[in-house]
Amino acid sequence: MVDKSLHEELRRSVRRICQKYPDSYWRTLDETNEYPEKFVDELTKSGYLSVLIPEEFGGAGLGITEASIILEEINRSGANAGACHAQMYTMGTLLRHGSQEQKNKYLPSIADGSLRLQAFGVTEPTTGTDTTQLKTTAVRKGDKYVVNGQKVFISRTEHSDLMILLVRTTPLSEVKKRSEGLSVLLVDLREAVGNGLTIRPIRTMMNHATTELFFEDLEVPTQNLIGEEGKGFKYILDGMNAERILIASECIGDGKWFVERATSYANDRVVFNRPIGKNQGVQFPISRAYVNIEAADLMRFRAAELFDAGEKCGTEANMAKLLAADASWEAANVCLQTHGGFGFAEEYDVERKFRETRLYQVAPISTNLILSYIGEHVLGLPRSY
Ligand SMILES: Cc1cc2nc3c(=O)[nH]c(=O)nc-3n(C[C@H](O)[C@H](O)[C@H](O)COP(=O)(O)OP(=O)(O)OC[C@H]3O[C@@H](n4cnc5c(N)ncnc54)[C@H](O)[C@@H]3O)c2cc1C
Repeated sequence: MVDKSLHEELRRSVRRICQKYPDSYWRTLDETNEYPEKFVDELTKSGYLSVLIPEEFGGAGLGITEASIILEEINRSGANAGACHAQMYTMGTLLRHGSQEQKNKYLPSIADGSLRLQAFGVTEPTTGTDTTQLKTTAVRKGDKYVVNGQKVFISRTEHSDLMILLVRTTPLSEVKKRSEGLSVLLVDLREAVGNGLTIRPIRTMMNHATTELFFEDLEVPTQNLIGEEGKGFKYILDGMNAERILIASECIGDGKWFVERATSYANDRVVFNRPIGKNQGVQFPISRAYVNIEAADLMRFRAAELFDAGEKCGTEANMAKLLAADASWEAANVCLQTHGGFGFAEEYDVERKFRETRLYQVAPISTNLILSYIGEHVLGLPRSY
C-alpha cells in the first residue's frame, strides 16, 4: 500500500535540506571540482541515505519507492545525488549477502553516518561493460586475499571509508561459466590506501569525484569476503534493479528541474514583444519533454512497486532507467535551447545540469545494453554479445 502522505512529507523534508544548498553552492563546487562534503554530511546525519537499512540496524527500514523519492528531490532541487547515491544501493549487497557478523559490524555505523560506504568497484579499463572478463584478481593466502589489478571510473573512493569490490578469485580457464569465480570483497579504504592501493582522480566533464584504482598486493582479510567465494557476479546482479530504479529517479528529478526552468524562462523572456513561450516552436518541445518525464515517472513507480513487493522487476527497472535517462536528456536539450545564449552561461546552471544528466546515457549502464536486455530477455531475440 503506497503511503502518499509519507511521500509528501519526505519530499518536503528533503526539499528543506536542499534549499540550504542553492545553485551557487553546486556551481562553485563544479568550478573547483570539489566534493559536496557539507551536503552529503547533512543528508547522511539526517538519515536520508540510510532509509533502506532495516530498523534493527539503525536505518528507517523504508522501501525503494521512498529511497527513489529522496534522490529525485535532490536532483530536482538543482543538486546532484551522484555524490551520494551509491550508499543506497551498495549497502544492499552487504545487507542481502553479508554475514550476520558483517552486518552487525558495519550497518549501524553506516546508518548513523559514522562510516561511509559510497564506493563500488566494478569497471576496468580493458574490459568495460564485459564484466565477467575483468582482470583484477584476489588470491587467497592464509587469512588474507592478495589483490592485484586495476579499476577505472570508480567514484567517490576519496570520500568513502568502505568499498564494495568485484574481483576474480578463480581464473576464467578454471570455471565452467564465465560468470563463476568472481567474488565480492569489502575493502576498508582507510587501511588500503598507501598499503597496496593507489587512487588517482580522473577529471571528467562534470564534477563526479571519479577515480582510477591501482592494486599492488593489497591484502584484504578473508573475513571481508561477502557471501560465498565465486558467487560475486550474482550478488552484483542482485543489486542492479535497485540501482536502475534509483538512477531513473535522479533522471526524473533532473527532467523536472529542466522543465521548470525552461517554462519559467519561456514565460519571462520577451523577444519580438512577446514571451518566447508564446511561440509554439518554443512551447511544444517543453510540453513534449514534460510528457516524456511523466511517462518515465509512471514506469519508475511501477518498477519500485514490484521491487518493494519482492516481485520480479528486471524488465520494468531497465525500462524505467532507459525512459528516464532519455527523457532527462531530451529535457536538458530543450531547456538549453529555450535559454538561447544564456543557456551556455554558467550562472544559469543549465549547462551544468546538462553535463550532469548526460552521464546517464552511459553509466551505470549504457542505453545500448538496456536495449539488448529487452531484445534478449523480453522479446526472445538472439543474444547479441
Ligand atoms: C563519471 C563516471 C562515473 C562512474 N562511476 C563508476 C563507479 O563508481 N563504479 C564502477 O564500477 N563504474 C563506474 N563507471 C563506469 C561505467 O559504469 C561505465 O563507463 C559504463 O558501464 C560503460 O562502460 P565502458 O565505459 O567501459 O564502455 P564500453 O564497455 O567500452 O562501451 C563503449 C560504448 O560501446 C557500447 N557497447 C559496448 N558493447 C556493446 C554491445 N555488445 N552492443 C551494443 N553496444 C555496446 C556501449 O553502450 C558504450 O556506449 C563510471 C563512469 C563514469 C563516466
